[in-house]
Amino acid sequence: MKIERRTVQFQPNTRNFFFHILTQCNLCCRHCYINPEQHGRQILNEKTLSRWLAIFADNHPITRSPNQSIPESTNDTNVIFLGGEPTLSPALPHAIREARRLGYASITVDTNGYLFNDILDRISPEALDYFSFSLDGSHPGVNDFIRGDGVFDVCTSGIRRALEKGFGVSLIFTASRMNIHDLVNMPSLLTDLGVNRFFIQVIGIRGKPAGKGEMPLQLSRDEWEAVVPEVAARAAEKGIHVTYPKVFLMPDETFSCAGIVAENYFVFPNGRVYKCPLCEDYPIHSAEIVEGVLKERPPIRECDLFSLQIPEGCVLNKILHPGNISYDREGRPVSRIACCMLKEEVLPV
Ligand code: SF4
Ligand code: SF4
Repeated sequence: MKIERRTVQFQPNTRNFFFHILTQCNLCCRHCYINPEQHGRQILNEKTLSRWLAIFADNHPITRSPNQSIPESTNDTNVIFLGGEPTLSPALPHAIREARRLGYASITVDTNGYLFNDILDRISPEALDYFSFSLDGSHPGVNDFIRGDGVFDVCTSGIRRALEKGFGVSLIFTASRMNIHDLVNMPSLLTDLGVNRFFIQVIGIRGKPAGKGEMPLQLSRDEWEAVVPEVAARAAEKGIHVTYPKVFLMPDETFSCAGIVAENYFVFPNGRVYKCPLCEDYPIHSAEIVEGVLKERPPIRECDLFSLQIPEGCVLNKILHPGNISYDREGRPVSRIACCMLKEEVLPV
């Protein structure tokens, strides 16, 4: 099967609403980035979910950094419900139906596979586009070391049940030093399960892994580039659509910050609204929802930093994760770090 590789450029007329509807979770994954101190412990009820969904579906004018050039209105808004584990919320079916009613272009639920509250029986396959299951290994030995005992079996059983009922299913693999060696086995598992959309994420040093001072989980450039593009190609040859972060830019590639040229909103139960996922552990959010109203925050916010131009590429990466950057003898960065929202796609054609 022929395959095609492409960089997915930011779409100025598309808005992505990453809606964390709670921070509670039944699991305790080693790389979990959820931070209730910063993100709140509220479980949003139906009324609040409806109200917040309406804010972002309304093409509401939202915080703009000085150099932002995107138009005020968008054509399409995608919503991704996350947590914690979003199926723990009994209000999730309501939120999914409300998103559909409000005309969201696509609706995805990220889940750890436990599918609480009989979610597969409480909504129809037409109500949403994808359940996106998180699985970090091709067998229990790898996955359950990271995500907990018994999780592999529960998650793969959830995937099978969702597919049997006719739901769209995708799979997310978070790559780190704990499981990169097993990524090569994932295309076969995906084929066995019947899943044809695969997202490879790269772990970030923040939240729990950084705080606990565990073994370094983040991959080096060599480790990432030696494995990920090759496995992505192998999966695409099996008919699977693969997406993964670009991470490093080639010398001839243009750097672009999604915080300036795209519309991504990462919203948390305490009302914080971020435009850059790297900033989520810090109280520098661009805006916040207060009593159902979206309000711009005063400086200094994340969006006040986006337009700083540095040779290392992403300015927030340089501030928060300087260890990611290598320099040559003259002190020049060996390669620029791409925006973490910039993706590569490998797909069958
Ligand atoms: S399933 Fe997600 S939210 Fe829950 S512990 Fe694992 S990484 Fe964290
Ligand atoms: S990751 Fe870097 S480039 Fe991307 S939105 Fe954040 S600050 Fe901008």
